[in-house]
Amino acid sequence: MALKTVTIAGGGLAGLALGIGLRRHGVPVTLLEAGSYPRHRVCGEFVSGIQPEELEALGIRDLFAAALRPRETAWFDGERLFFRGTLPESGYGVSRHWLDQALAERFVDLGGELRTGQRWEGGGLEAGTVLASGRVVTERREEGAGWFGIKAHYGELECVADLEVHLGEGAYVGVTPVGEGWVNVTGLFREGVGGGKELMERAVARAGLGGLAARLAGARQRPGSLKGVNRFRLGWQPGYGRGIRVGDAAAMIAPVTGNGMTMALQGACLVLEPLLGWSRGELEWAAAERGVCLGQRRRFGARLFWAEALQRVLMTGWSRRVCGFVLGRDWVSFDTLYRMVR
Ligand SMILES: Cc1cc2nc3c(=O)[nH]c(=O)nc-3n(C[C@H](O)[C@H](O)[C@H](O)COP(=O)(O)OP(=O)(O)OC[C@H]3O[C@@H](n4cnc5c(N)ncnc54)[C@H](O)[C@@H]3O)c2cc1C
Repeated sequence: MALKTVTIAGGGLAGLALGIGLRRHGVPVTLLEAGSYPRHRVCGEFVSGIQPEELEALGIRDLFAAALRPRETAWFDGERLFFRGTLPESGYGVSRHWLDQALAERFVDLGGELRTGQRWEGGGLEAGTVLASGRVVTERREEGAGWFGIKAHYGELECVADLEVHLGEGAYVGVTPVGEGWVNVTGLFREGVGGGKELMERAVARAGLGGLAARLAGARQRPGSLKGVNRFRLGWQPGYGRGIRVGDAAAMIAPVTGNGMTMALQGACLVLEPLLGWSRGELEWAAAERGVCLGQRRRFGARLFWAEALQRVLMTGWSRRVCGFVLGRDWVSFDTLYRMVR
């Protein structure tokens, strides 16, 4: 029996992992990626909450075998350390520059058709097409869409923990090693601060994180690694519910949780079975769409809600201090907060 072809629009983590998962079952897959590989992305590159069996189901577990396994974490309110501890489980520190390229190679090795430099221009999502094109960028600055993200790799940057999180006014900056001597520094800010090579240092200083800005000024920025994004919103993305969407194209979790990549991979796991059923002719596309939407809402709904609430608390001075006080007294454990957003 001939299997029907699945077209995936977008070759980030979600699209590539899904493509690999489908190819392992022999489904013909065409993947359109607007950009090329390798390339740097705005991402903290700290993966947390993904289970080995989920990576196994997608056929990509081995790609994480050599990744760093961050466990120790330190959280700062401005210059003040307010929490230091151990994550309930080790995460992964992995460069997207390397990972996306490795995933793309695996997809092609498995017989997937990868068309780089090709943008999907479809209006509606017809049967057989999955949208994995990442966060929806809005044309104008609308309510709730004023975020600005910046990332760069730094060399010769000493870290005090495997994962440092620096909280400032309307901002957070994560610092985590990703291998080969590079440290990922990624920030989410409420306001943009222009451009240029010192963009990160300026944004960090303006968020009231002068100590971190000085550390960055004394470190070496990896050429080509400075990237920025703006005009995106958190939560379920505009258009969600129409067609099958996966990863950030479906929903974007508050970045401070370090769970977006995991959601992209778990989202790929979740749509695998319905797409297999459709490709084999066992399931109507409309039924697959309904099943995926319901599954995503069940799996991610509460997580998205708590993540946004937690990020709001952490990025606001007074509520952040309350949070530090509560954690310090052990009234709520760090583990409880960690589990709520996974
Ligand atoms: C500031 C910040 C920090 C973050 N930190 C972390 C973190 O530490 N840990 C974590 O787990 N997550 C983090 N995330 C989230 C994480 O980066 C995303 O959740 C993840 O990249 C989503 O993967 P994706 O495949 O859905 O989208 P993407 O990785 O964005 O990939 C989408 C792809 O689609 C392509 N594309 C777009 N439009 C089209 C089109 N029309 N046709 C064809 N191709 C198209 C793009 O070129 C891109 O390659 C962070 C996000 C931000 C903004």
